[in-house]
Amino acid sequence: MTQATTEATVPYEEALAAYDPVLGLEVHVELNTATKMFCGCATTFGAQPNSQVCPVCLGLPGALPVVNEKGVESAIRIGLALNCEIAPWCRFARKNYFYPDMPKNFQTSQYDEPIAFDGHLDVELDDGTTYRVLIERAHMEEDTGKSTHVGGATGRIHGATHSLVDYNRAGIPLIEIVTKPMVGAGERAPEIARAYVATLRDLLAALGVSDVRMEQGSMRCDVNLSLMPTGADRFGTRSETKNVNSLRSVERAVRFEIQRHAAILASGGSVTQETRHWHEDTGITTSGREKSDAEDYRYFPEPDLVPIAPAADWVERLRESLPEPPAARRRRLQGEWGYADLEMRDVVNAGLLDLIEETVAAGASPAGARKWWSGEIARRANADGRDVPAYAAAPRRDPRPCGGVGVVGHQRPTQ
Ligand SMILES: [Zn+2]
Repeated sequence: MTQATTEATVPYEEALAAYDPVLGLEVHVELNTATKMFCGCATTFGAQPNSQVCPVCLGLPGALPVVNEKGVESAIRIGLALNCEIAPWCRFARKNYFYPDMPKNFQTSQYDEPIAFDGHLDVELDDGTTYRVLIERAHMEEDTGKSTHVGGATGRIHGATHSLVDYNRAGIPLIEIVTKPMVGAGERAPEIARAYVATLRDLLAALGVSDVRMEQGSMRCDVNLSLMPTGADRFGTRSETKNVNSLRSVERAVRFEIQRHAAILASGGSVTQETRHWHEDTGITTSGREKSDAEDYRYFPEPDLVPIAPAADWVERLRESLPEPPAARRRRLQGEWGYADLEMRDVVNAGLLDLIEETVAAGASPAGARKWWSGEIARRANADGRDVPAYAAAPRRDPRPCGGVGVVGHQRPTQ
């Protein structure tokens, strides 16, 4: 084991008394398009390794990418839902670095020309107040493949006897959503981080652009954090904790990093700019690699793809077709149904909103529908070891093919 010795921390209140946290969040969300971002390969989760690949997503010589229109549409809808400006013209860029599960040796991404920028998302906190998170940008890129390290105790590369690479995920469309630095959040920084990711997840689910399963990695959060002495206006050095994969972990990772940075600064040390790993089991972060600066990636415009210039009337049609924002929908339904705040919160937390809405639409009284789903059906689902929505959906769910044969043929991307 090289995994670092646990680094010193100071108590949370002590850290907050001396320093202001500056928080930034980068969320990667995998789109649920049927095909990859630049080729016609299928995107089915859990398929046989390396069965959903082709010359384009394997980066073979001479293979040429074509942009997935549905991916661009989803990116624009996300941008609009985040109150962003949509670029009338933008390009993809190559982000150059080597990683064994990235066959092209560059990632097709966007750099200084993101498709969406300058937005905001209002986030409701536990006490009922609202915090506005400013969005820097939302840009399109592609996912990498997936490495599995075999033979070690931890599943990490250290101690492994060999590694396996699955390129099925290489080229799956991703949207990266980056906030502006949040200053002045103080002791609420961990709560704001959690609430932001939860609100964003609900919004993306309502848009229907992703299955937003954090535990499966289709939504992943990187936590950027730095501290500055209380009252200062110059940001400190930040750390970037990668791939935090649950709402609770986002909150805990922010809190831990505040305590860790404070311990370093209070002892006269300086924080290293680096990426860090989050450990769910122990609730700590450990050092990853030193963070590269943008210039290290040698970004340049992607020469094999034409620029994206979404027609203004298309963008307007997409804007008009946006669903009602989840928070507004909850307020509207609560008013229509006459539920008390606590009743409404229980219904939302149990994931019963859609079911109750359907049941009321079918003629039930709101009070009767709530009692039915959160009483009788919840009791049966509980006995069956499932939550109510899964229990209700079970008879209708198609069996998922497992270990089946992936798509072999290669088509032009259509969606
Ligand atoms: Zn492909």
